[in-house]
Amino acid sequence: MIGAAIRRLACLILGGSLLCGASAACGSGTSAVSGQTRTPPVADAPADPPSSWSDARIGEFWRRVSAGPSLKPARWPHDAVVAVALSFDYQMGTVYEPSPTASTNTNSQYDGRVGLPRLLRVLDKHRVPASFFVTGVTAQLYPDTIRQITASGRHEIGVHGWIHENNSTLSADEERRLLAKAIAALAAASGRKPVGYRSPSWAFSDATLGLLREFGFLYDSGMMADEEPYEIFMDGRPTGLLEIPVEWMRDDAMYFQRQNPHSPQAVYETWRAEFDKAYEEGGLFQLTMHPRISGHRSRVVMLEQLLAYMQGRRGVWFATHEQVARAVRGSGGSNSR
Ligand SMILES: [Zn+2]
Repeated sequence: MIGAAIRRLACLILGGSLLCGASAACGSGTSAVSGQTRTPPVADAPADPPSSWSDARIGEFWRRVSAGPSLKPARWPHDAVVAVALSFDYQMGTVYEPSPTASTNTNSQYDGRVGLPRLLRVLDKHRVPASFFVTGVTAQLYPDTIRQITASGRHEIGVHGWIHENNSTLSADEERRLLAKAIAALAAASGRKPVGYRSPSWAFSDATLGLLREFGFLYDSGMMADEEPYEIFMDGRPTGLLEIPVEWMRDDAMYFQRQNPHSPQAVYETWRAEFDKAYEEGGLFQLTMHPRISGHRSRVVMLEQLLAYMQGRRGVWFATHEQVARAVRGSGGSNSR
């Protein structure tokens, strides 16, 4: 129920364009009035609007999943001033538009065919690690590309769903089945069970947090309550699951989708300022990118510019999300895994 309310609210805020993706997640916009079906002219009114909730229910809503205290350490490993955690959501094999032909899905194939190897070359050149959150179907269909990622020994493989399904539209049993399938496929292709999870489209159902604990994940990376790592609380209690937070502003999909194109230089300015402030605060600078988006030439030039800038500063610790999670685990959270 709470998940449905969150989804409804997100659909209203985002217009169903970002978080929901498919219109089915936002409802059809029809309702029954006096035995007849009508279609509202603009948007369906929420059946259970938050303005009608009791004070107790609003409190319960916010306690359901919340952020524990910041786990920003006094100093990062190697006595570093700032931590930099790069991530790529890699999902070749995801079927974006079911179609009689594969032509509408070629952008998905660019992901691993061009974007991934180009980005891996850049990471190799700068000798920096990254976390790759991968859909299970990618590992099953294109296991050689998983081996390309793991070949250097620097990068992490995390889970990004089975086929980029929207968790908030699934039953708990179906979500468990797909998560187990994704973990198995990624473990088989990479030789190691993943410890990190990023839900497709950052969607979260009522069941997701419980499933992450059930499968023994170390951390999640898809929430936005802070810029620094924290422990996820459920119903007011610590879960032992760490969060490496994300933000739309630090996600290439915000800037480079065809509906909303930005120049790479404008993105460079924003991300450099985010890094500069994180450096000043001694915090974490985290980025979310996609090989099929950031793997294009002009954007790779920008990423190299940013890497060179950050590597020009003293005390910058480049780490995978897993390494960040392990570094902060003992700094105040209850996590004992
Ligand atoms: Zn994704």
